[in-house]
Amino acid sequence: MGKILVLPPEIARKIAAGEVVEKPLSVVKELVENSLDAKADFIEVEIVEGGKKKIVVKDNGEGILREDLPLIFKRHSTSKIKNVEDLENILTFGFRGEALSSIAEISKITIITATETDDTSSKISFFSGEISEIESEAYRKGTTVIVEDLFYNLPARKNFLRTAQTEALSIRKFLKDFSLANESVSIRLISEGKESFFYESVKSKKERFYQVYGGESYYEHFFEIEGWNGEYGLFGFFVKPGLKEYKKMPQLIFVNNRLVKEKVTIQAIYQAYDTYLQKGVKPGFIVFVDMPPSELEVNIHPTKAEVKFKHSSDMFKFIRNVVRNNLENYYLENEIPSDYDKVSDYSTMIPQNEVKGGSSFVREREDSSTRQKELFHRDYAYTGGSPSFQERGEMLVDFRVIGQFLDSYIIVEKDKKLLIVDQHNADERVRYERLLEKKEESVKSVAPIFPLIFEINIDESFEEKAERLKKHGWEIEIWGEKSIHVKKYPAIMQGGDIRAFIFEYFEKGYEENPEDSVLKLMACKSAIKVNHRLNYEEMVKLVSDLFKTKNPYLCPHSRPIIVEITEDFIKRELKRK
Ligand code: ADP
Ligand code: MG
Repeated sequence: MGKILVLPPEIARKIAAGEVVEKPLSVVKELVENSLDAKADFIEVEIVEGGKKKIVVKDNGEGILREDLPLIFKRHSTSKIKNVEDLENILTFGFRGEALSSIAEISKITIITATETDDTSSKISFFSGEISEIESEAYRKGTTVIVEDLFYNLPARKNFLRTAQTEALSIRKFLKDFSLANESVSIRLISEGKESFFYESVKSKKERFYQVYGGESYYEHFFEIEGWNGEYGLFGFFVKPGLKEYKKMPQLIFVNNRLVKEKVTIQAIYQAYDTYLQKGVKPGFIVFVDMPPSELEVNIHPTKAEVKFKHSSDMFKFIRNVVRNNLENYYLENEIPSDYDKVSDYSTMIPQNEVKGGSSFVREREDSSTRQKELFHRDYAYTGGSPSFQERGEMLVDFRVIGQFLDSYIIVEKDKKLLIVDQHNADERVRYERLLEKKEESVKSVAPIFPLIFEINIDESFEEKAERLKKHGWEIEIWGEKSIHVKKYPAIMQGGDIRAFIFEYFEKGYEENPEDSVLKLMACKSAIKVNHRLNYEEMVKLVSDLFKTKNPYLCPHSRPIIVEITEDFIKRELKRK
């Protein structure tokens, strides 16, 4: 006797069914797809024990004709293919007439259904190879499919299932994604007897997006993107440029309204976002790509989750350009959020390749800023900007100074955030950059009216140190054995703490980078101190100057300058969320 055995058909069928139905989620997927195909605009999914014990999918669709019911559990029975040309549909939409028969093979399945013209509903079930008689029930238009004891006859498969909680989670996630694509359908999930969510049918994807994600903390960081050419269309919700890292932002791709895995789209979106997000931050997006089905290669894999574009480089360019253009426009029309405390160089945030032909870019930014300013607290908004800062292509800043706290911190409203600005650190940053740029007041000398004599320890390094200060507008001589005479000092030190500067400079050694240390010390000792009351103009000037620096978030000694408080945070603290 040979070694090869042909499996008995009932076993072969079970194996085949197991390929279509992997877990409770697969059943839910197939059943809600069927409800959609039946033009339902209400779908309710109920699961018990994560779907392992029971899955009920109820819809208000077209229903199934009574005479078709006995056929429904036969393999390859479908009402969706009428002729051979329609076979193309098998490839594109995956109508294979396989779902119900496969589910029936490995569970107890009951269907209750009625079409519009029926007087009663019909009920039929299939269990362990036995098909029941058709019974009549009270009329309800549409179809209810009840699937019980999944894999009761495939114990190995059953053991392979995850916990009820995990299975429920994946179903919940799928149904949310499914809801995003089908906003005109009311969708409810009931899990372990409790309503998990109910999204009523709405008119736009935007409203559905809000239903699904409105409660998430990242919701407000998304904006809408739209674009099309003759053949392709793109619509979606994308994360605004400049967002800080969020751990759990969705990345969903729908092609012709089906959730798919598709690599070209992701790559195109990532490339579009280059320079618009901090390095290493992945963009969140929910994108709907529309295209002629003939442009798609659909994998005949039973779960049909993977697709390929036939003209992938066209698609790549199309998607990248639409996303990139929308990002640019968004960037131009809005102040980019100031979440850049991790970024040391502002220039990386600006789309460098677009700055070429630079002046027009800058002009546009000015225009949009002017408009923004008008919208933004007309009375208080203050727009600063010396020409050199505009040349850099950096933003003109709109903000509102609310006041001063403890005579030390300036409270500012900007980009819908509350900023607490350390006035000393801020002024230090501003002055340090002026010194670096050798602005006039940092090299021009002034002579004190009264002689400035300080007693210090004069050691052998004195000459060298005094010499170094000369470049920066200081003139210092030895005045006696233990004292020096400051004949001139740079204008930037006016009103600053010259005494503190002199003592720190001459008494401390600056081994590393003495040039830079001098500038930092001058910035520090000339800067406004804490516990010092400022008037309104002074505060506005300081904050405005600060935002024109290269890094408003870190002082020259790398201490933070600004604490940001978002509305989100406030709401959380106030338990409004
Ligand atoms: P397919 O969806 O590929 O046609 P299925 O096994 O999923 O195959 O379904 C078989 C047939 O059962 C469908 O073609 C359809 O005629 C009918 N059907 C299944 N579910 C529903 C439903 N919820 N409402 C109306 N008809 C349904
Ligand atoms: Mg189907």
